[in-house]
Amino acid sequence: MAAELLDGAAVARAIRGEVARDVADLKQRTGVAPRLAAVLVGDDPASQVYVRNKAAACHEVGMRSEEVRLPAATTQDQLMARIRRLNEDADVDGILMQLPLPRGLDRVAVILALDPARDVDGLHPLNAGRLLLKLDAPVPCTPAGIVELLERYRLPIAGQHAVIVGRSEIVGRPLSILLLQRDATVTVCHSQTRDLPAITRQGDLLIAAVGRPAFLRGEHIRAGGTVIDVGVNRLDDAGAAAAIFGKDSPRLRQVRERGYTLVGDVHPIEAAGRAAHLTPVPGGIGPLTIACLLRNTLRAARLRRLMVAQ
Ligand code: NAP
Repeated sequence: MAAELLDGAAVARAIRGEVARDVADLKQRTGVAPRLAAVLVGDDPASQVYVRNKAAACHEVGMRSEEVRLPAATTQDQLMARIRRLNEDADVDGILMQLPLPRGLDRVAVILALDPARDVDGLHPLNAGRLLLKLDAPVPCTPAGIVELLERYRLPIAGQHAVIVGRSEIVGRPLSILLLQRDATVTVCHSQTRDLPAITRQGDLLIAAVGRPAFLRGEHIRAGGTVIDVGVNRLDDAGAAAAIFGKDSPRLRQVRERGYTLVGDVHPIEAAGRAAHLTPVPGGIGPLTIACLLRNTLRAARLRRLMVAQ
């Protein structure tokens, strides 16, 4: 049995189409397009690519985007001052803080400093609290994308045992809330979990957000289950790529020609042999995360510019 690949890129395209239509409507009513400011501190190459992709996606749906680049040596005070300026800029609808921050900068202080109305990642405690209370809130983009994918593919959530590996603030934790609210039975695993395969094998839905290449193997996966691979890991070693994808895989050519290939947190070959449904990497959750970011930015712009009550 080879798993059906869940086409996150196609679902993301559909969401972007819906956002583009609503952006045009907002523009017609207010005269302005939503504007996203993405703050990037330091020169981490992966973060630079993410921010560039987000800016390109904004333009594609008719939104404006601004890249706020700050040097790695930026102090906490300087960063906080910059965020305050963005908070006070009436023409900024969404502020995206690209994480992780360089060492020495306090991420929590930065999240607390964000204007909750412009917090398009849904990380501010006010928004996280609203999510817990099932009130309208910007839902963190990756978990929102995962739920959207499951729903648009009409894969059941209610009554399913969802096993999430990873408990980060941006993926595992908010996803556990969203799935619980949709009546799944949720188990969250982490680095201290004992006998991980015995638990993950129980998952009708298995969601991996660990940050370790091909970490979940066949033995972790329930036969016939659905596997959502959130991980995005750069693999630049041809030997490691061959061990995962096989000696004749085009991925090997990618490593030789481009210098790297991307692999998720799930072993793609072993998972394809056991699961019924699987998200690919790339082309799975990544594009959905960006599409949901656009939707959150549109939401923030509508609330502020049309004075819609929350
Ligand atoms: P993170 O903050 O580093 O959290 C990783 C989680 O994995 C932690 O909860 C950690 O447990 C757990 N973990 C680590 N080793 C483990 C082990 N041996 N067994 C079980 N659990 C283990 O990561 P993140 O920000 O959630 O990101 C996870 C992955 O998703 C990364 O590859 C990232 O690049 C990717 N990602 C992709 C998107 C996208 O758009 N596709 C978005 C966000 C993140 P502890 O809590 O105990 O340390």
